Amino acid sequence: MRKRLPKIPPLGIRMQLTCWYTLVSAVLLLLIGIVFYTTFQQSLAASFDMALQQRAQQVAEGITNHEGKLIVDDIVDELPELDATSAIIDSASNDGRHTTPEHSDTPSHFPHDRESVFVRVLDINGHVVYNTPNFTNLSVPADSVTLPLQYHPWHGTVSMSGGDELVRLYSTMLIEKGTLMGVVQIGQSLERLHASLEHIMFALFLLIPFILTISAFVSYWLAGRAFVPIHYLARTAREIGAKDLHQRVVVPPANDEVRDLSLIFNEMIGRLERAFSQQRRFVADASHELRTPVAVIRSMTEVALSQPSNTEGYETVLREVNSEAERLGQLINDLLALARVDEGQAQLDSEPVRFDLLAIDVVESLEPLAQERQIELKTQTLQPATIIGDAARLIQVIMSLVDNALIYTNAGGSVTVSVETCASHVHLSVKDTGIGIAQKDSEHIFERFYRADPARSKASGGSGLGLAIVDWVVRAHRGIVSVESQPGQGSTFMVTLPRSLP
Ligand code: ADP
Repeated sequence: MRKRLPKIPPLGIRMQLTCWYTLVSAVLLLLIGIVFYTTFQQSLAASFDMALQQRAQQVAEGITNHEGKLIVDDIVDELPELDATSAIIDSASNDGRHTTPEHSDTPSHFPHDRESVFVRVLDINGHVVYNTPNFTNLSVPADSVTLPLQYHPWHGTVSMSGGDELVRLYSTMLIEKGTLMGVVQIGQSLERLHASLEHIMFALFLLIPFILTISAFVSYWLAGRAFVPIHYLARTAREIGAKDLHQRVVVPPANDEVRDLSLIFNEMIGRLERAFSQQRRFVADASHELRTPVAVIRSMTEVALSQPSNTEGYETVLREVNSEAERLGQLINDLLALARVDEGQAQLDSEPVRFDLLAIDVVESLEPLAQERQIELKTQTLQPATIIGDAARLIQVIMSLVDNALIYTNAGGSVTVSVETCASHVHLSVKDTGIGIAQKDSEHIFERFYRADPARSKASGGSGLGLAIVDWVVRAHRGIVSVESQPGQGSTFMVTLPRSLP
């Protein structure tokens, strides 16, 4: 059986930040180290070459042509064991030309160490006139002699035969009064230069991990500090329970991310608070609405049971119980519809619907009710209008609006329904000459259970949910519903829906 590896939990943000900071610092330090090292190496090599050239110049200054013979004079005090060729040199003839190393303007890193300096002087035929004993150990390429004899100085790194020591060699032409006399070669061991570079490399290898360790600790500490306000925010948020949603977190004055977060958080608590209180009100209103018909049914049945009556009496009670039960059923249906809306489970059909024909159907079906209430129910403009939607729900919208218009209009009044179209929309208007709605009420009538005229609403069996459902259906069809009303002069409800073009 294969064993499952234990799951490693992901790193916290603080640790992640620390790792990222350290990684970025490591890359930067490495780049800086490389740039520093290569620049240092190049400048060291350049000044090394420069020093060699100066040395060669000085050695050349000590060489004179004596009747076709080159005489080497040790003016740099670095040419040991001058051989027979230079025996004719009279040390007294130095004429103060002797240059001491102390007064040399050679760069300081050029070591005045006879052992590590290699010198060779050749005449125009390529014959060695003078060389330091150590020069014979060098594997010198032929170019180092032939090129200077063609007026091309030569620079190169050569190795010591039988060892891995490297020597930097500079070879240049010896010219006196414009005449080529021979070649001067001067070399210097690269050992010290390499040792310096190794020191630098070693220092970098020690320094970089040290700086990285410090930067890791500092970034961990800084990340911790940066999260202090967030921790505070989280603690306050945890303390705010469902019961004290009126509380808010403290918004810091600094205009930063924490401030944004606090503001967003407060907005969210505000929305939650509103949603909670709406929910509480809804439940309270719903129970109140449900309790009323149940109480009516109970009291009527109790009275009927306690006082024996005749068939007519029982029939009356049963009819009233039936109408209360119908009201109760309607209320439960409305509540269920709204509960589905809240849960996001309410589903609508999407089919082409002739909206004008729906309006005609509704008007025809409510005509008897209008006549009973002595209200004139009429249609005005009815333009053919097709929309994509749910026919049953759209009938419910028109029905609610016309039904309300008939309820809130007194006998002798009129209700006019019209459907008009424009390029992209369909407009339904239900206009009545009824009691109208006060400004303060018209802002709330689309809320659940809101009644501007409770007595009339209850008398007609209304629950205060009709317009809330209208609002939801219209919104679900990407439309809007609005009202214009003057108390005592009537109301006009307008529904605008997107039109489906053929
Ligand atoms: P209800 O069942 O009470 O009619 P609605 O949601 O349909 O519930 O309507 C909410 C409130 O809006 C009503 O109680 C009523 O006060 C007001 N209202 C609705 N339609 C009209 C209208 N045509 N004229 C005057 N008031 C109206």
